[in-house]
Amino acid sequence: MKTLSYGRQFIDDDDIDAVVAVLKGDWLTQGPSVKEFEDRFAEYVGARYAVAFANGTAALHGAYFAAGVKEGDEVLTSAMTFAATGNGALYLGGTPVFADIDPSTLCLDPEAASKKVSKRTKVIAPVSYAGYPVDIAPFLECAESCGAVVVEDACHALGAERNGVRVGKEAHMTAFSFHPVKHITTGEGGMVATDSEEFDRRLRLFRTHGIEKEPRFMGAPPDGPWATEMQVLGFNYRLSELHAALGLSQLRKLDRFVLRRKEIASLYDELFHGVSSLRTPPRCEGHSYHLYPLQFPAGSRASAFEELDKRGIRGMVHYLPVPLHPYYRERFGYVPGDFPHAEDFYAREISLPVYYGLSDEDIRRVAEEVRALAALLPNP
Ligand SMILES: *Cc1c(COP(=O)(O)O)cnc(C)c1O
Repeated sequence: MKTLSYGRQFIDDDDIDAVVAVLKGDWLTQGPSVKEFEDRFAEYVGARYAVAFANGTAALHGAYFAAGVKEGDEVLTSAMTFAATGNGALYLGGTPVFADIDPSTLCLDPEAASKKVSKRTKVIAPVSYAGYPVDIAPFLECAESCGAVVVEDACHALGAERNGVRVGKEAHMTAFSFHPVKHITTGEGGMVATDSEEFDRRLRLFRTHGIEKEPRFMGAPPDGPWATEMQVLGFNYRLSELHAALGLSQLRKLDRFVLRRKEIASLYDELFHGVSSLRTPPRCEGHSYHLYPLQFPAGSRASAFEELDKRGIRGMVHYLPVPLHPYYRERFGYVPGDFPHAEDFYAREISLPVYYGLSDEDIRRVAEEVRALAALLPNP
């Protein structure tokens, strides 16, 4: 019996050839592939600039830095996300502030978020959870009135569209991840897309130790053509040429990848139609389905998870609300009950397999097992 996990990369001979070509060439890092990957990526999402990072977490860290997050500043985000969305603020001495989700989108609720805005809010970071393209307009409006920057965490949402506009264009900055379970992979990798020249420059500075090499951006006349200036405390968050070449090759297949994910989700939707104990994910034209989060009756999730695992279906749970992790509870005093919608969703959720390499037969097998389990469950 083939084991199906909730996510998996798809690598073909073109990908392998692209990486091997880099290994045989002159540049393993800081060469032309990163630049080309950035250019093609920016073109794809429709942004003026894209800056590659070593991973999606580094991309978020860089975006918060570029937005100006400093000691004491707040980054307002969704309780239903991966820890990295909050951690990026902590790395800069900032404070992540969490708000609940809207259960009809599974994304940050603009109402709930607006109640958590303060004088210290520097960034609003909505998360397009599972690939559902969260409406960015209310957050842009809110950010304008409080002088904050909108950084969309679109690590789930490459290839998603809101009203025909690709995710990556509308927020002030948008962060992506190329972890192997995401839409395209570079092994590890990330990207920030932006239309702002200033953000682009700050992102690049942060990625390379905070060291500036361009004379026109230096404070003092350079000592000579070798001169560099460290202007801020940055990191080495560069992506290597091998990673970038893989990313470029993967990017060419992205439309196919997204299309297949949408097909898989429609097939699941169809196969779960009328099963009253299950709640399928919110639908939306531009959804790019990084995940297919299915909700079971609260109280049956654990047994459903284990039963599926026994049958070779390795689901995953996304996520324990970040503020309820021990680190966040101890440091900030969050307690169960603070985020009722996110907590209720967490208690019900299992992410089913969704990735390019799945066949219709695989999907039918998963759905059949889920339906057999659901038949034994009480109605919600
Ligand atoms: C994957 C992910 C990240 C972090 O990306 P890495 O590349 O794993 O560092 C951040 N936020 C969300 C919502 C993610 O899914």
